[in-house]
Amino acid sequence: MLIVFIGPPGAGKGTQCRRLVDLLDIPHLSTGEMLRAVMEQDTALSRYVASYINAGKLAPDHLVMRIVSQKVKSPDCTNGALFDGFPRTMVQAQMLDDLLVELKRPLDVVLELQVPDEVLIDRLLKRAKIDGRADDNDATIRERLRVFHDQTKPLVQYYSKQGKLRSVDGTKSEEEVFDAIRKALPIQT
Ligand code: AMP
Repeated sequence: MLIVFIGPPGAGKGTQCRRLVDLLDIPHLSTGEMLRAVMEQDTALSRYVASYINAGKLAPDHLVMRIVSQKVKSPDCTNGALFDGFPRTMVQAQMLDDLLVELKRPLDVVLELQVPDEVLIDRLLKRAKIDGRADDNDATIRERLRVFHDQTKPLVQYYSKQGKLRSVDGTKSEEEVFDAIRKALPIQT
């Protein structure tokens, strides 16, 4: 099964995605994690990627797409994959559609986690204290939310028009959210 998971920063995407890939036994393709792995090296590319991520900006579409298409074509993904944090722009969504047409593998479902901004800011500031992620500070958090509303939120309508969108209330407990996600899947688990 091929799944896209959309949600603003702090919506609990990471936790729910980990549970979902365990349940479905498919690889978890988190572009945020892939880009952070690139940043750990000491190369011109890692500094280029860091300049976007540490400012709360999106990495360039062509770079993200190159990383994702390599992964999707790998044998690990023959049974499907869960895209976490990708696509994040309309350009990426269209590039993903083109890639999946080429591979003759349509998307099965797009899950959207809905959480109001006030709740997100509160959660992200708490996470900053625990994880010490460089992009979890007040200014960057606000910038990431602005970027989400400007660039990623339009995807909700895009996938809704394709009849693929399932929205889930992300303010509930972890268990309740996971239960709602399971019910939103096109197969019963
Ligand atoms: P995440 O772990 O999904 O919150 O992503 C952390 C950061 O990585 C984001 O704020 C962006 O700077 C970058 N990033 C992750 N996924 C993408 C993507 N699909 N396109 C562009 N930038 C991304």
